[in-house]
Amino acid sequence: MIRRGSDRGAREWHPGGVTAPRAPRVPVRDSIQALPAYVPGARIPVGASAYKLSSNENPYPPLPSVLAAIADAAADVNRYPDMFATELVERIAQHLTVTGGVPVGPENVVVGNGSVAVLQHVLDTVVEPGDEVVMPWRSFEAYPITVAVAGGVSVQVPVTADGRLDLPAMAAAITERTRVVLVCSPNNPTGPVVHQGELDAFLAQVPGDVLVVLDEAYVEFVRDPDVADGPATFAAHRNVVLLRTFSKAYGLAGLRVGFAVARPRLASALRSASTPFGVNHVAQRAAIASLGAVDELLERVEALVAERTRLVEGLRDQGWDLPDAQGNFVWFDLGERTAARAAESTEAGVLVRPFAGEGVRVSVGEREATDLFLRVAAGWRTAR
Ligand SMILES: *Cc1c(COP(=O)(O)O)cnc(C)c1O
Repeated sequence: MIRRGSDRGAREWHPGGVTAPRAPRVPVRDSIQALPAYVPGARIPVGASAYKLSSNENPYPPLPSVLAAIADAAADVNRYPDMFATELVERIAQHLTVTGGVPVGPENVVVGNGSVAVLQHVLDTVVEPGDEVVMPWRSFEAYPITVAVAGGVSVQVPVTADGRLDLPAMAAAITERTRVVLVCSPNNPTGPVVHQGELDAFLAQVPGDVLVVLDEAYVEFVRDPDVADGPATFAAHRNVVLLRTFSKAYGLAGLRVGFAVARPRLASALRSASTPFGVNHVAQRAAIASLGAVDELLERVEALVAERTRLVEGLRDQGWDLPDAQGNFVWFDLGERTAARAAESTEAGVLVRPFAGEGVRVSVGEREATDLFLRVAAGWRTAR
């Protein structure tokens, strides 16, 4: 019989005993128990019809060439995928070198099951129990969850009244215990980007052994000319990591592919920490096909940016003063009115994303969805 430590559990177990203590239960870490459950965007009930503007998804279906790659790849799913996604990693490195203007090699690229998983691996790699991770707030709701799972402590620095990251306050929040700072640009859900000048000033204040994660999930939608240039910033700073995703501009949210761009030593550690075979074969082939059709995909992004402009201008005409929308979404700071407004929107056939007590995020979707949502927003104004 194998005994390890005390047999405390066995002694506490008294089936049927009147005064028996409760049966032992598997403990759940306090930091996990304290987490809010991740709230996904609303789902359209079966049989109902509505525009889903609640998850920042791309409204376009996959390109025919991408669908064909997905169908072809399906024939091989009895085999394990390429563990390190060699071809995809090479294609990403090439793509970044061409579009980013700085050399990026396969040794710098680590793919994962969506960039949320890649972020988890980054945190698991560098955060020791009790280490602090500084983040803007409100920002991406996965941030505090991934930090807690990694055993870290979230330090949340409020965004400004116009939804911008307060980088001076974030720099001031760095302590001896800080290991990572998360910088979301454009910030989900508020919308504005971080400018190069403010990021440079911020990085000058961050100790070299603190990792700065620049989350560029929506980079393809940005039209603000002063936006911080991720690849150039990565090239200039040893402690900067970029996060990108195929979920938004590339329209592959359902297949889960994201990646980090990191220095080779950290990239190698990230691979060690990653879920084995984390990016499945179908996803790898779809992402490769998407990079092969990047011009076509970016035309769609251009159309979505035009749709965003139409939405923002329509809202401005109604009198709304909203944060600068640089992603595929707009943010309404509605405070206590949030839940009621979101319910009205659902009622009208547009699903939006409420953040209870704070505000509503509305994704840019189809033309008809914009038209319908503009009518909803006009109703919100008259009801103020
Ligand atoms: C959507 C989003 C991501 C991407 O998530 P995936 O896991 O790649 O789908 C990452 N960061 C932010 C801020 C996002 O909004």
